[in-house]
Amino acid sequence: MTTLLDGKIVRDSMMGELKNKTSDLEKKLKLAILQVGDKEESNTYIEQKKLFAEKIGAEVLHIRLTEDIAEEEVYAEIQKLNSDTSVHGIIIQLPLPENLDKNLIIQNIDPIKDVDGLTSVNTKLLWNNEKGHVPATARGILTLFDYYKIPIKGRRVVVVGRSQLVGKPVALSFLNRGAIVIVCHRGTSSIMSETKQADILVVAAGNPEFITKDFVREGQVVVDVGINVKKSEHQSEEILHKKVVGDVNFAEVSPIVSAISPVPGGVGPMTVLSLFQNLLDAYMMIEEK
Ligand code: NAP
Repeated sequence: MTTLLDGKIVRDSMMGELKNKTSDLEKKLKLAILQVGDKEESNTYIEQKKLFAEKIGAEVLHIRLTEDIAEEEVYAEIQKLNSDTSVHGIIIQLPLPENLDKNLIIQNIDPIKDVDGLTSVNTKLLWNNEKGHVPATARGILTLFDYYKIPIKGRRVVVVGRSQLVGKPVALSFLNRGAIVIVCHRGTSSIMSETKQADILVVAAGNPEFITKDFVREGQVVVDVGINVKKSEHQSEEILHKKVVGDVNFAEVSPIVSAISPVPGGVGPMTVLSLFQNLLDAYMMIEEK
């Protein structure tokens, strides 16, 4: 029988502990979210974070800047948040408008408050397998594995996707836990033969349901990171019929493999949980300074 790697169950079971720890703190745990523009998708993700914060008793400071803002003004906002002692974590809601340099902007965040783990300081710590903020999706996936007691050491992990936000941190996190890691991307000529050799397959491609039954084999653990909104064929009813699917064709793949995370309800809830675990870590680091 296939095990469902249920991120909602894991999140809910770990949320209580996070809530207790948060309520024991002297100061209120506070996350600042800096958004540039007003993308619908970003608004949805921010709402999810606010909802989770409310559940554990943390606070979210949501700053929304207009699309035409100059890069220097974004830097200035970040500097204010860096020196605000009531703020423990700062995230830049991605994507940013094209006229802004995401990488330069992120480097302005104080690494201790960089709870998305994207500054070069945290990237290097992950690279060196040292303690730092690990990007939330990667941390969430490993928490999912630990919860379901799935061994990692010595196993062959294939990651499809090499983005700075997901693919690379996921690959490094598995490598740091002793796995043998292969990373595939659009330039990989034989993805199917790579994915079939995996013990653990993590897909973060942003390509709706492209992993079909032909990419997998029995006994594998499949983690679907993708979040793709499938539009309705009935344009007038689009809002009512929006459907979220992953990068894996769940109906085809789930009967074959030994464990799989669903979309929605798999990695998504784990990412939000992990972001707030990073925030709590940041609080501790700041207070210990
Ligand atoms: P991204 O920056 O667009 O990167 C996608 C990666 O997948 C790239 O490395 C790309 O290869 C590779 N790729 C795309 N199509 C491929 C194909 N057909 N064959 C092989 N490789 C392919 O996306 P991302 O930010 O990593 O996000 C990936 C997905 O995860 C998206 O659906 C996103 O919404 C979702 N996501 C989910 C969570 C969560 O919490 N569940 C969090 C973040 C992101 P190249 O480098 O060669 O272009």
